[in-house]
Order: sequence, then C-alpha cells, then structure tokens
Amino acid sequence: MTNRKPVVAANWKMNGNRQLVDNAVQSIAKQSELKNNLDVVISPPATLFSYLDSAKKTYNSDVILAAQNISEFEQGAITGELSVHHVKEMGCQWVICGHSERRSLFGERSSVTAQKVLQAKKQGLKPIICVGETAEEYEAGKTYSRLTAQIEAIFNLGGEQAFTDSIVAYEPVWAVGTGKAASPELAQEIHHFIRGMIRAMSPVTAASVRILYGGSVTPDNAAALFSQPDIDGGLIGAASLVPEKFIKICQAA
Ligand code: PGA
Repeated sequence: MTNRKPVVAANWKMNGNRQLVDNAVQSIAKQSELKNNLDVVISPPATLFSYLDSAKKTYNSDVILAAQNISEFEQGAITGELSVHHVKEMGCQWVICGHSERRSLFGERSSVTAQKVLQAKKQGLKPIICVGETAEEYEAGKTYSRLTAQIEAIFNLGGEQAFTDSIVAYEPVWAVGTGKAASPELAQEIHHFIRGMIRAMSPVTAASVRILYGGSVTPDNAAALFSQPDIDGGLIGAASLVPEKFIKICQAA
C-alpha cells in the first residue's frame, strides 16, 4: 500500500438491524488507532440510514455512511426507487454503484451504472464503482475484456472526472459470497490492470484512486490481500455483519 489512505467498507446488503448498527458503530469508535489512518464505511439497508447517522453522534464515530444503490434518474415516477437526493438528505456521503448483485439480479447494465456514478458525482457523493467478471467469463479468459467494457462505459459517459476522487472496487463475481477469495497475487495483477486503465485516462487520478478488493474477505486473508501494492482496502459483505470480524479486517488495512 502506498500513501493512499486505505478504505474498509461494510456492505450489509439486505441484512442488519438497529442492534447491529449500535454494536458496529460503538465497537469501531472504540478502536481509536483506526482514526486518521483508515476510512471506515458502512453501507446498511436504507431503513437504517438515519439510525446510523444518529448512532455516529451518540458514539462520537466518524464512520462514513454509504448507500447500497441509487436510481440513475434524479426524480420522478419511479415507484420504489431512491434518488441521490434522498440518500444525501439521509446523511449518506458515499454510494455503491454497480454491485454485481444489482447487475445479476436486477439486470443493471454498465451504461446504467455509469449514469448512477454521474448522479452521485453531480451531488458530491463519492461512488464506490464495482466491477468484476463472472465465473464463466473468468474461465473463458475474458476477465480483462469484461473489466475494460465496465470501466469504458463509465469513461464514455463521464470522462476521466468520473474516476477523480472516486473509489473502484474489484469484485470477481465468483468470489462474492462463495468463500473462495481471489489469491493476493491474482487480485494484485487485476488491480494493476485497472489502475493501468485509469492511468491511460489520467496519470494523476491513477496514482490517487483507491481500488478495493471484494469477495470473501475474512480476518484470515485480509492482511495478505491488503499488503499488495495496488490493493487499497476492501469491500466486505458477510464478514462485515460480525463486528469483531469487521474490526479485525479494518486492523489489517
Ligand atoms: P462477501 O461480499 O464479502 O460476502 O463475499 C462482498 C460484496 O458483495 O461486496
């Protein structure tokens, strides 16, 4: 890891409750050594945004609140969706865009993810831009072409500014929720490739953009992954639901 400030982000997905908010925020706040050295992010279901925002004050925590998704549209007749304005008003500072579950379960295309990234940036939210290949793509040797298409969709719509001060998360779909994390060497190779793509747009952005690894990160494999030169932290699913595990992962960053 370089002078880029590491990030460890919890993606609770459709899990968690107020009790978990209290446990997580309080136990993170107790780890005073994490302050200043790490951006700790929690992305709970939207119903917990305001509870988490007030828990931050209760426990004097600087944990960053992130939304798991936003609409690609700014407002309008779209039943059930939340716009960037809604999540911003609830205290979210960051937002996950293009998570593989949005792509696979809801058919979110890369062009739609790109619109979400732009919505976020327009309103000053930091997007965590998720990219990653499926198991079939990996086995067919299509990892790099898939990542190229996902990243180009964002570049084509938003230019290099879409990546300035953004976060990228490489999450191989075959590693998400499977217990089979990518090896540190493979993850490093792919992170290096992603940073190289961003370098072709802007060397300055490439040097500063934080690229997270996600997919079955645990307290046991976090340190080896995070010690790779192009891996700047992680996006954590299942292990983030257990505060003791999540804190160990934070300490590894
Ligand atoms: P996992 O999920 O850590 O449970 O594999 C990661 C993610 O989906 O962000």
